[in-house]
Amino acid sequence: MESYDLVILGGGLAGMCAAVEAGEKGASVLLLEKLDELGGSTVLSSGYMAFTGTDMQEVAGIVDSTESLVKDLQEVGGGVNDSSLITFYAENQLETYSWLVGQGIEFRSLEAVSGHSVPRGHIIDPHQAIQALYKKVKQLPNVIIRFCAPAKRLLKNEEGRIDRVLYESEGAEQTVEAIKGVLVTTGGFAKDEALLGQFAPQLNGALRIGGRGNCGDGIKMAWEHGAWVNDLPYLNGTYGFHPSASGAVKMQGLAFYKGAIMVNQLGRRFVNESISYKLLGKAAFEQPDKITYQVWDQTVMDKSVADDPLYDLELLRRRRLLYITDTLEELADCIDVPLEVLEETISRYNQGIQTGEEPDFGRKTLTHNFGKPTPIEKAPFYAFESTVAMLATYAGVAVNSAAQVLNPFGEPIPGLYAAGEVTGGFHGAGYMTGSSLGKAAVFGRVAASEALSGAAIK
Ligand SMILES: Cc1cc2nc3c(=O)[nH]c(=O)nc-3n(C[C@H](O)[C@H](O)[C@H](O)COP(=O)(O)OP(=O)(O)OC[C@H]3O[C@@H](n4cnc5c(N)ncnc54)[C@H](O)[C@@H]3O)c2cc1C
Repeated sequence: MESYDLVILGGGLAGMCAAVEAGEKGASVLLLEKLDELGGSTVLSSGYMAFTGTDMQEVAGIVDSTESLVKDLQEVGGGVNDSSLITFYAENQLETYSWLVGQGIEFRSLEAVSGHSVPRGHIIDPHQAIQALYKKVKQLPNVIIRFCAPAKRLLKNEEGRIDRVLYESEGAEQTVEAIKGVLVTTGGFAKDEALLGQFAPQLNGALRIGGRGNCGDGIKMAWEHGAWVNDLPYLNGTYGFHPSASGAVKMQGLAFYKGAIMVNQLGRRFVNESISYKLLGKAAFEQPDKITYQVWDQTVMDKSVADDPLYDLELLRRRRLLYITDTLEELADCIDVPLEVLEETISRYNQGIQTGEEPDFGRKTLTHNFGKPTPIEKAPFYAFESTVAMLATYAGVAVNSAAQVLNPFGEPIPGLYAAGEVTGGFHGAGYMTGSSLGKAAVFGRVAASEALSGAAIK
């Protein structure tokens, strides 16, 4: 039987960070990847990573702190996320940012997105990031990546420690020994209808966008050995996709975080647009026929950010996904909402945000605690039909801040680690943009270090 210090299951950001971390520490590593390519949901992502205290924030004159990051994560997570995980993240994220830069990962700009009190979304090109880590792995002779090699089951020794993995390769079943630990980084289950049907039936009809190998394999494998699962009640889609969107072509726009409102088919607002787009997704899915529009004016359009994965509103125009009209009357006609209701909605909203007392949903900011909304009054007017996509599941196996997988009593399952989207507990009821890629990198590295230090060998 083949034997390695660490066996990693899944080659997305969490698995690749772990492979490089463990490889640089001199460990022998086998990374099993189910597909014929690396990247999972990571390479489909918008590439925002939530960091604080970086050189990029300093250059932009942004004042931020780990305390503010923790506070925002707690607020966005509705206070039900695991404070030990978010505190650990906040205290270790800056070191991981520097580590990623050191691995050749390029950060190109900074924006405020969901859950940010200040701009802390550091944008990478996720393909470039995975390629940079892969290049590093290829320089490490002690790290091997095996493609088309799905892990099937975790195996325990007589003392109850996970010490082997059963996987498939070239049509045959193989077993590999993991001397120091098995690290599960198989991502979420956005592509598994059975699990989504079981745990998120409220999302039937939502678009599915995610890595094609992301079917919850890791959760099932860990569950078999008694892993507890956190955050299942908070599975939500993400708002802001055109109904014709797929993973391959970007058709997402978050104009609401630049000042757009959201209206339903009755022409009415139904939510405070500054909250997490996961919660916006939940609210949108409760509207008549699940049809909603983002509506904005030229003042908001002028805030379009060229080449930004979420804020390039001009790209939506070029792709002919927007209704653009000179009057609200024409806009109401295009999207088939009653004109008098739309006019009333916009007039109440404009008055409310100007007095600071928006009467219906209390909107005061653009996103979370950041930015000031502007009245919708300057033609032309824009509407973007938007819906909900299940992108990332964020509910998964319980872990502690050493990335050890926990049983229902909070005890580590010996030999078993997990990092990235396969884990639950970090996000709680909501999601801060950039915290999923961020946690994949931070905890992927931590898991590798902890496994090699033998923390979970009992
Ligand atoms: C469209 C989109 C936009 C997003 N934008 C952002 C963003 O801007 N910021 C942010 O923080 N998050 C974002 N996310 C979420 C984020 O991309 C993911 O949560 C994150 O990339 C997960 O990383 P990971 O390494 O845990 O999993 P993944 O990157 O999904 O990697 C998991 C890997 O495991 C492999 N695998 C699965 N099962 C097995 C098995 N049995 N054996 C071996 N290998 C297996 C998969 O094939 C895959 O390669 C977005 C997600 C999507 C889909």
